[in-house]
Formats: sequence, structure tokens, C-alpha cells
Amino acid sequence: MSTKAKFQAIRGTRDLLPPDTALWNRVEQTAREVFSTYGFGEIRPPIFEPTELFSRAVGGDTDIVSKEMYTFVDRTEKLERSPTIGKLGVFIERVKALYETGEIPRIPDNELAIERAQAKWKTVEALLERGQGMKEDLEDMYLLTILIDAMKLGLDVSLRPEATASVCRAYIEHNMQQMPQPVKLYYMGPMFRRERPQKGRYRQFYQIGAEILGGPDAPAIDAELIEMLMTFFDKCGLQGTELNINSIGHAADNCRRGYVAKLREELLKVKDKLGADSQRRIETNPLRVLDSKLEHEQAIIATLPRIADHLCDECKTHYAAVKRELEVRGVIYRENWRLVRGLDYYMRTTFEITAQGLGSQNAVCGGGRYDGLVELLGGPPTKGIGFAIGEDRLILSLQEGGKAPAAQGPDVFIAWMGQNAYATAIRAAKNLRNAGFRVELPATELKFGKALERASKLGSRFALILGDNEIQSGEWTLKNLATSEQQKLSEQALLNYLKSL
Ligand code: ATP
Ligand code: MG
Repeated sequence: MSTKAKFQAIRGTRDLLPPDTALWNRVEQTAREVFSTYGFGEIRPPIFEPTELFSRAVGGDTDIVSKEMYTFVDRTEKLERSPTIGKLGVFIERVKALYETGEIPRIPDNELAIERAQAKWKTVEALLERGQGMKEDLEDMYLLTILIDAMKLGLDVSLRPEATASVCRAYIEHNMQQMPQPVKLYYMGPMFRRERPQKGRYRQFYQIGAEILGGPDAPAIDAELIEMLMTFFDKCGLQGTELNINSIGHAADNCRRGYVAKLREELLKVKDKLGADSQRRIETNPLRVLDSKLEHEQAIIATLPRIADHLCDECKTHYAAVKRELEVRGVIYRENWRLVRGLDYYMRTTFEITAQGLGSQNAVCGGGRYDGLVELLGGPPTKGIGFAIGEDRLILSLQEGGKAPAAQGPDVFIAWMGQNAYATAIRAAKNLRNAGFRVELPATELKFGKALERASKLGSRFALILGDNEIQSGEWTLKNLATSEQQKLSEQALLNYLKSL
């Protein structure tokens, strides 16, 4: 017995295994097919980006950015890893030079740490010259290493908690505004958020998303994007989907800002009856109160003013047109005035899709229009709208709905006996696989009974029996494992027969 400690996947992460991965692949394949019929191309952005990209795009005071991101300092490779005490002076000068060129982040913390380390080094250097060993000397050295540890010696990066920010960054970086507009992109892959793991909520989870950037903000764009999304869910066989839509206007006094002021006013009147989170949000972000799932707040929220009554004329017209366009496309929706997004650049259309079998984590997709985001990230004024599907939840709902494909066994299990037959078995396996069949070729010789037992355990459809008789006659035996029927076939006839099924 080994006494070595075993490893486990980190909390909130998990292995996706066969046969489940077959369903993941099917879902992803369906997304590729459906999205490409709507003119979307795939983008594969990096999995880590400067932290600043997310804090700006997702918002510094959101839970995602303030608590949930996996952030680390990607220390520059231009610095020695662990300089010895005597070399610390040179090390600090090198840090300073890299700070000045910007290769080490030019942030106040670094400036201060470098300044102090330079001063502290002078003391330590003098001590070293005099000969060390005193207790006070050690303390100075210790303080110096603490200062060095406090420096951010490279780029502050984060694992992506979502991908819209990356897609917008790429749009700007690659001057995509010079391509025919709008640019339609989709992505799929892992996202990372340090949330409390539970059913349908993981720390590494997967999203499939799409964004439309540039071009006009015509309601048809919003409606077609939603139509594509619902078509995708339909092709996946997702059951019990419900599309919720809303318009949150835009950040102007005669529109959302006016509404938020009114909402705050009304919330202040009922402040005492609200929970702590909602009380705080009256100041920070009143819209988010509408998001509350607290049982005792529901009746109060129902009496609050609704944004639809406070939209400006343009946003009202846009919303009406989106709804009309959805109807023309046969997309069924439910209006939900409580569906909101907390950030200023989100505007007009917002939507969410829920599905069955997921308990309280029942949102499989969220999306909306974000016309100000590209500009916020330093690009030209650009219209934008997109969505992100939670793939883990989509898969979970499909599995709960019995839509998972059955595990696929081999088509043919080759039961070979004797060294004579072995060479033929290898060739047969290769030819059958070339023709696209799933073939299992046992690596060691098995007794006839054992071979058939293994074949049916694997769920194989046929057993191809190759023994001395078959090799001599050139007539191979094919056994249907479901019916136990056997037939004799030449190699070519066997291939034709399997292809004809
Ligand atoms: P929720 O309210 O469920 O936390 P969210 O508003 O944080 O969702 P978005 O950031 O809009 O979600 O992401 C879009 C979709 O990604 C969600 O509808 C959900 O299906 C999925 N999702 C978000 N966070 C997680 C997670 N931690 N684990 C699994 N799926 C997630
Ligand atoms: Mg969340």
C-alpha cells in the first residue's frame, strides 16, 4: 500500500468524464452549427487577461471583481528569483529601472515600496560591511525582505470570470471596426469565479457566448440574436425554457437615471422593511434590489415603480420594435420588469432564459445590449449586444430531462484466437476503423467465452470471430450480440454488410 497523499480536484472544479463528455461535445457542435448559419465566427481569447480589463468592464464594485476573481501577479522574468542578501542592492536598482520603463506596474504601492527599500538597503549595506549577526541587524534585513515581497513585480492578471470584456478588447486591438459591420463572434470555454459551490454553480464553469459588435442598434439585431439562441436551445432538446425580456433604457436623466432616482425615493420609504443587502443597495445600486430573491421582500418589490413607465421615447420605441420582431420570428417571450443589469453601459434590451430541473440556479443564459462598453475600454463608440450561456447548467437540465445520449459501445469486438489470426485481426481492425467503425481489439488473447463476455459488457453490437477456421477459409464469423445470430462473410462482404446497416 502506498502511503503517499492522494490528490483531489480543487473545490468547485471537477472532471468531466465519458460518457458525459459526449453530451458536452454534442452541445458544442450544435452551437457551432447553429451560430455559423447566422454568420458568426469563432473567437478564442486567452484565459487570463490584465485584471484591469475586468475591473473596468465588469465593474469594480461587483461581487465578481471585488470577491470572486482568481488574481495573481505574473512576476516579470527579467528579475532574479531569489537574490542573496548581498545582491539585494543590485536587485532593487533593477526593479526601479523596470518600474520606470513600465515593465513593473507603475502603481503608488510599488513606488513607495521601491523608495523605502532603497533607503532600507543603505542601512543593511552598512551593517553588512561592518559584519553582521546582531539581533537588530536581522530585523533590518527582515524588514527589507518584507518590502520586496510587497512589490508587485509584474503584471496584475486574472483568470477570466466572463468573456465579453475579452471580445471587446480583441475588437479594439485588431481594429475590427474596419471590417464589415457588425462583427459577429462566438466563443466557448471555461470561466472562473470564486463562488460558493453548489448544484449548477462551480468555480470553474463553462460558457458558450456570442457578441454582435458595431453596425446599428436596429431592434432586428436584438431579435435575431435571441432567435438564434432559442433555435440553439431547441436543437439541443432543452425542455421547459422560458425567455424573459426587459428594456432598461439608457443612462440619461429622462430615462433610466430618472427612474433610478424615483426608485431610490420609493425604496427609502420602505427601507426599514428591507434586508441588509437591499438597504445597502438603495445607495449603491437601487436597480439591484429588484434582483432580490428574499421571500419577505417580494411583496414590497411588487409595489415599486416599473422602468417601462419611465423610458424615454426612443428607448420605448426600440423596446416595442424588439417585441414585434420577436413575434414575427415566432419567439415566445415573457416580459419581466425586474430583469435588470447593474452597470451603466448596459442599455435597452436585457434577457434571461431559465430551464427546468435546475432548482434555484435555473438561469441558463443571460444577455443584453451594452452600447457603451467598447468605448469604456478605449475603443471607438460601438454598439454591442451579446449573451452567455451557462453550459454546465444547460447540460444538467438536458440530463435531468433524459436528453443525454446513451453511452456508445464498440460496433465490433474482435475475438481473435491464435497467433495466426492475430495478424489478420490487426489488419481487420485497421480497415474497419478507417471505414469509421468503433472497434475493440483485445491486446491479449482471450478464451472464446471470455471474449464474448467482454464484448457484451462493453455493449458491443457485433463480435467478429477470427480463429484458425476463419483464417483458412477466408470466411469470417460475425455474431450479432443482440440476437445471437451468426453469419459467415468474406472480408469485403463484411465491410459492405456493416456499411449497409
Ligand atoms: P447567477 O445569477 O446564476 O449567478 P450571473 O448573473 O452571475 O448568474 P452571468 O454572469 O450573466 O450570470 O453568466 C451567464 C450564465 O452563466 C448564467 O446564466 C449561468 O447559467 C452561468 N453561470 C454564471 N456563474 C456560474 C457558476 N459559478 N457556475 C455555473 N454557471 C454559472
Ligand atoms: Mg452570479
